[in-house]
Amino acid sequence: MNEAFLHYLWQFQQFEKSDLRTSTKDTITVLKTGFYNTNSGPDFINARILINEIEWVGNVEIHIKSSDWKVHKHQEDEAYNNVILHVVWENNQLIVRQDGSLIPTLELKSITDFELINKYQYLIDNQSIIPCQEAYSKVSDLSKFAMLDKVLTKRLQQKAAIVNELFENNKGDWEETAYQLLARNFGFKLNSDVFLRLAQNLPLKVLQKHRDNLFQIESMFFGQAGLIEIYDEYAEKLSQEYEFFAIKFSLKARQLNSYEWKFLRTRPANFPTIRLAQLAKLVTQQQSFFSLFTQSNSIEEIRNALKIEQSSYWQEHFNFGKTSNKKLLGLGISSINNIIINTAIPLLAFYAEKIGNHELINRCINFLENLPAEENSICDIWKNMGLSIKTAFDSQASIELYNSFCTKKQCLQCNIGVEILKNPPE
Ligand code: SF4
Repeated sequence: MNEAFLHYLWQFQQFEKSDLRTSTKDTITVLKTGFYNTNSGPDFINARILINEIEWVGNVEIHIKSSDWKVHKHQEDEAYNNVILHVVWENNQLIVRQDGSLIPTLELKSITDFELINKYQYLIDNQSIIPCQEAYSKVSDLSKFAMLDKVLTKRLQQKAAIVNELFENNKGDWEETAYQLLARNFGFKLNSDVFLRLAQNLPLKVLQKHRDNLFQIESMFFGQAGLIEIYDEYAEKLSQEYEFFAIKFSLKARQLNSYEWKFLRTRPANFPTIRLAQLAKLVTQQQSFFSLFTQSNSIEEIRNALKIEQSSYWQEHFNFGKTSNKKLLGLGISSINNIIINTAIPLLAFYAEKIGNHELINRCINFLENLPAEENSICDIWKNMGLSIKTAFDSQASIELYNSFCTKKQCLQCNIGVEILKNPPE
């Protein structure tokens, strides 16, 4: 037995309620279970309960054994004087408040269906990638969609929190925030941290002074990244140009090292050199990344702005002095969609929250519903279980459900898990 399961039993009143009584045989009628409290203090607050037909309004505390009250030292904490019901699995000790009055206690052990405990144990002990896999097909679409909605909101909030951190570091500068977020995205997982650091060390306001000259922007990107290797004339000139800008803008102290960039297990088209060349091109083409991501009304508008080809050198080389057998094209459609999902939408969600504009949140949802689903192993697992994953809304939500709930066995907080426990399949 664990307290999380007892919280679930209380929250959803999953026990025999026909003749509820306290340990002193007083009748109990639960009018309101109270709100689950994730902060310090009693577990459920503002509950309403009739004890012997007298209404009590206050808090509910839950323990495995009633003696845990003392183990947790609640008798020394005033916050627990307003507990109107102590709900326990096993009542092994009488518990009183600081004023000496007995706290009514409800013992669940004798009124809980053991089949329910077995089902819960099965979910928790199950070693499948998705613990509820076997029962999943019997769960109603309503529970599945409600859960996907819930986790998608959570994912948007988490991504907005990352934007918030950048925004605060940039002291409220939207343009630098949008640029850094975009640069981080260009690292596509493997190099996202180093791309972000590069952008933080090479501010957009420096780049924008020279955005009419792609070669100069490339020199600052590759030079500051510490990636220039002098194999040919292009690299030599690029290095000279960087040395000039490094002095002009005092960049050298924050220059990165080549070993910080990861090239292994990456296709040449995804090499950080190619991604840097593409980012450089975007800097020359976009006056304001912030406007592009927050003011565009359609996905198509953003897609068109991100359709770029890097400079001719980087169409023929995947690294300095290393020629490619085939022409390296600009940003592909899946990379562009990835940037919309991981840069434009989180930025828009954070901006919407910041200015209190809910219409913009709807635009985020609308974008996600109109972008194709991402393809990865997590989405494949869900597809194999029969979940339809057609849009980015579906893929983002299913990834979040898997990462934040299934892998952590948070089935009691999941609408799907709650339905499985309520209506155990035969
Ligand atoms: S968290 Fe929900 S979807 Fe995931 S295994 Fe548990 S019940 Fe199933």
